[in-house]
Amino acid sequence: MLLATSWTQNGEITMDTPHILQFDHDHIWHPYTSMRAPLLVREVASARGVRLKLSDGTELIDGMSSWWAAIHGYNNPVLNDALTEQVKDMAHVMFGGLTHKPAVLLARKLVSLTPEALQKVFFADSGSVAVEVAMKMAFQYWLGQGRSEKTKLMTIQSGYHGDTFAAMAVCDPINGMHEHFGDILSRHYFAPAPTTPFDGQWDDADFAAFEEMFLAHKESIAAVILEPVVQGAGGMRFYHPEYLRRVRQLCDQTGILLIADEIATGFGRTGKLFGCDHAGITPDIMCLGKALTGGYMTLAATMTTENVAATISETSPGVFMHGPTFMGNPLACSVAVASLSLLQCSGWQEKVERIEAQLQEELEPCRELAGVADVRVLGAIGVVECHEPVAMESIQRRFVDKGVWIRPFGRLVYLMPPYVISTSDLRSLTRAVYEALLEEEQEGSN
Ligand SMILES: *Cc1c(COP(=O)(O)O)cnc(C)c1O
Repeated sequence: MLLATSWTQNGEITMDTPHILQFDHDHIWHPYTSMRAPLLVREVASARGVRLKLSDGTELIDGMSSWWAAIHGYNNPVLNDALTEQVKDMAHVMFGGLTHKPAVLLARKLVSLTPEALQKVFFADSGSVAVEVAMKMAFQYWLGQGRSEKTKLMTIQSGYHGDTFAAMAVCDPINGMHEHFGDILSRHYFAPAPTTPFDGQWDDADFAAFEEMFLAHKESIAAVILEPVVQGAGGMRFYHPEYLRRVRQLCDQTGILLIADEIATGFGRTGKLFGCDHAGITPDIMCLGKALTGGYMTLAATMTTENVAATISETSPGVFMHGPTFMGNPLACSVAVASLSLLQCSGWQEKVERIEAQLQEELEPCRELAGVADVRVLGAIGVVECHEPVAMESIQRRFVDKGVWIRPFGRLVYLMPPYVISTSDLRSLTRAVYEALLEEEQEGSN
């Protein structure tokens, strides 16, 4: 292909939109896509507040927060300042043998925001790595005590914990496509997903299968890992906080560690600062990511207790065996500190409550659609679950035509807008969900 590129004097390549899209199509993987039949992508030129601006000038109201992350909206002046100020001092420096104020300020904030017992912070560079780190902490904790038989994790079905191999091994076996990887993946224990809804009537029977499996295998289990209260990319399911309290009790009785993956639920999305707060429990290890930097940079953190840290540090090999190149990146830490400060002084709880009430009211009519199986809302998360997988390209085109950015997956059409969204913009999103589903149904039936 002949590329209409031109080189400017300082060596930058300039390309027009058709060529950008063509090159992208020919050379670049997007999440979960094929190189033979890639899904359509659109070029974003800029983003501001809750709007994405495409290169053809189309403006889209963002219903996704770029996957749980952009909670304060795009191009936020406070976050921009934090980055530009930090870049004047240093963009990056190795974390081996060196430290810096952004990392320390962020750790101090995380220690004060998370449950009291979580005192030790490991900075990782993405959510999946934070999950790997959590698992390694749990396994090292037991290895240090000579318990080398503790090689298993226990989790619940319909979970999602990331795309790297160890994380993938505890994702839902079906959604997580375990069958494609055969014997490559480690085998862990999967209890059925909880079935009691978040605000349903708790029934002990919902926990029986977990308890039975846990007790049968407790000698080989190092840790339980789960997403508290909201299971995200594994199915957007909300479950009863009592389930978490039961897991915590069993872990307490046996000394098995509890890892709470708060990468999606953290920082207010579910209506509490952390998902665990709904159950009033403290995990032994907590993973944070996604909204940590307000969607600006990739950064994650794994927090743990004095007990876990001390055991790892006082037993062989005496150090925690992990240290990524970009650990504690100063730009990412600075913008995370700014994002958390902004969160704390922004009245996030009221904003999330308002979004919750509006989502409840305005998504409810979707229930009447024949193709819709369930509508559920928790915090700033609204989910419309269909009976059948939605036709991705077709519904996406409808959304873009309606001026919104909503990206369904499988049978799920869901909204998790930035917390700063206005009532009228949120109404545009909920209306678009209803209309697009209705139109898909009408076209499908004729
Ligand atoms: C997104 C997510 C991850 C993985 O984070 P990445 O930054 O995509 O690696 C892990 N756990 C949960 C609960 C997530 O939602």
